[in-house]
Amino acid sequence: MFIHQIPSFIPALFPRFTWSKLADLQIYLTFDDGPTPEITDFVLECLAEYDAKATFFCIGKNAVENPSIIQRIQAAGHSIGNHTMNHSNAWKMDYTAYQADVIQCEEVFAQQQINSIGFRPPYGRITRKMYLEMDRVILWSVLTGDYNASLSSTEIIDSVLPLLKPGAIVVMHDSVKAFPHLQAILPAILRYCKEQNYTLSAL
Ligand SMILES: [Zn+2]
Repeated sequence: MFIHQIPSFIPALFPRFTWSKLADLQIYLTFDDGPTPEITDFVLECLAEYDAKATFFCIGKNAVENPSIIQRIQAAGHSIGNHTMNHSNAWKMDYTAYQADVIQCEEVFAQQQINSIGFRPPYGRITRKMYLEMDRVILWSVLTGDYNASLSSTEIIDSVLPLLKPGAIVVMHDSVKAFPHLQAILPAILRYCKEQNYTLSAL
């Protein structure tokens, strides 16, 4: 069984990190791993259709390859956050190398005049050192699992919609791997949020 909701004890263990935001009728959609040609543009079109703002946790390498998509994200009023230069796994490398990868992404952002709103560790992998030393780390409260080929899009939608509560931070991916599900779940989430009168905001 795929667990879409973060068990409450995990945020309790890491209270300094942002896992959700208690806000009246606001939901925060986030898209990790882009920018990706065509797929990020699909997301931008869907968001525009619903007058929704969102946050993109971009991989530095992808930002270097797709500066025009970065410009479109920014021009549309969405936020951008750091997701490392190379989608590094904090559990598989030492902290110094990991930190260097985060800084490299930040440097790309500086070159592209991106004002990063924070950092999301790839795979949600946290270490004790990261916890003690890094600020503005943003996780999520609802994991769609859009990258998971063993789920159907309908299963994802049925599981995720009831979890869309005020202040929820929802993670999706503007990546090739997630696109088969994303095409179905993003319009469904946007429609549901509109029906429920949620405002979709950037972090
Ligand atoms: Zn990622």
